[in-house]
Amino acid sequence: MRLFKQAIFLLCICMIFSCSQTQEGSSDQVYNQPGTPLILISIDGFRWDYLEKTDTPYLDQLVASGARSQGLIPSYPSKTFPNHLSIVTGSYPNNHGLVANRMYDEVFDEYYYIGQGSTAARDGKWINREPIWVTVENQSLRAMTMFWPASDAKIMGVRPSNWFTYNESITNTQRMEQLLRWLDLKDNKRPTFLASYFSDVDNAGHRYGPEAEETKIAIRSIDSEIGVLINGLKDRGIFDAVNIVIVSDHGMTETYTDQVIFLDDYIDMSRVELVDKGPFAVMRVVMGLIDGDAKPEVDNLFPLLENAHPNMKIYKKNEFPENFHMTDNRRIQDLTAVADDHWRILTRDTFNPSYFPKGDHGYHPDYESMHGIFIGHGPDFKIDYVGPRVQNIHLYEMMCKLMDITPSINDGDITATTTFLK
Ligand code: AMP
Ligand code: ZN
Ligand code: ZN
Repeated sequence: MRLFKQAIFLLCICMIFSCSQTQEGSSDQVYNQPGTPLILISIDGFRWDYLEKTDTPYLDQLVASGARSQGLIPSYPSKTFPNHLSIVTGSYPNNHGLVANRMYDEVFDEYYYIGQGSTAARDGKWINREPIWVTVENQSLRAMTMFWPASDAKIMGVRPSNWFTYNESITNTQRMEQLLRWLDLKDNKRPTFLASYFSDVDNAGHRYGPEAEETKIAIRSIDSEIGVLINGLKDRGIFDAVNIVIVSDHGMTETYTDQVIFLDDYIDMSRVELVDKGPFAVMRVVMGLIDGDAKPEVDNLFPLLENAHPNMKIYKKNEFPENFHMTDNRRIQDLTAVADDHWRILTRDTFNPSYFPKGDHGYHPDYESMHGIFIGHGPDFKIDYVGPRVQNIHLYEMMCKLMDITPSINDGDITATTTFLK
């Protein structure tokens, strides 16, 4: 009976695993022989200084024989989807289209949201710049993704040769083993670009805070998964023949229940729709429009919020300071309230002290607490080199160079990353 139960359990695991794997298999596409493989890995929410917080022997190994930036500067807002897309498109969120994890688009008349099961996050119509896996596939090389935000969407008509629908029950070890299996493929079946993603460090940072012991445990656990990859590459004799780029999308900062700004202390919330809240709050005017024009009501609300709280700034659509790079996108709403580091913007009815994160991100990239990591290891990276902080929009051009492919339109500059390369 026990054996039977075990067999059923294993069968279920296999079914979950195989159902989520999808091969687009556009059989008419002719692929070239692969180039030097590039493995891109994201450790969500890994703050730039986490490497010093606890033992990370495998990441340290990559740092010692590779190149590291002192910090990877995210794009505003320092949220997961905007920044994963900035990394793979080389573009600011207002240009690639994901200006937040949660958005409203007036032309689609639809909401964007993330998380396992999100259909919006798997819909490529939201993305306006070319992710690197599309660039790779368009140049007759194979890209294979074992999770990366939006890699399970068809974007500009293209999917990776292999990809998985986001499914948190696929373990971190299975993710690394899948990359290794793909590298075992022969000739032009083998990918040139591979990507994967870990969420545990971000989850722990939110739940327990960036300094907590639980977050250190998550850091060590992901480090050991990087070890699965490193050892797998060594077993195959290809550790020094592949380029590995490890990044994070943003950092993490402490948040406190007594550092909350309540919008409803200043305005009547029935006048707006609250599209997003937390480190920033996004408001769409839904009442008091004159002939469909929100501007007069925006002008009424703005002075009520402008000097409301010393730790909150308020911006009208198209009036963000330049260093936010938040212009000209219809998904930026009428009013955005932006909190200082550590503060959160909520409403009284959405505040629950017993369900309150101890850490968060989404703040301006000028705060070091929002900076992530960038480590590069492999034949094209310098050895034992620590370089300056770099903005994440520059990595797309660098990765294209590593794979010897032509980049698509982007906001990055190759000269920002040449210092890390041999
Ligand atoms: P954030 O709220 O910015 O901390 O986003 C982190 C969350 O993004 C993770 O906990 C996941 O739930 C979600 N996420 C990460 N990758 C994907 C994906 N490929 N599809 C949908 N949701 C995702
Ligand atoms: Zn994230
Ligand atoms: Zn997060």
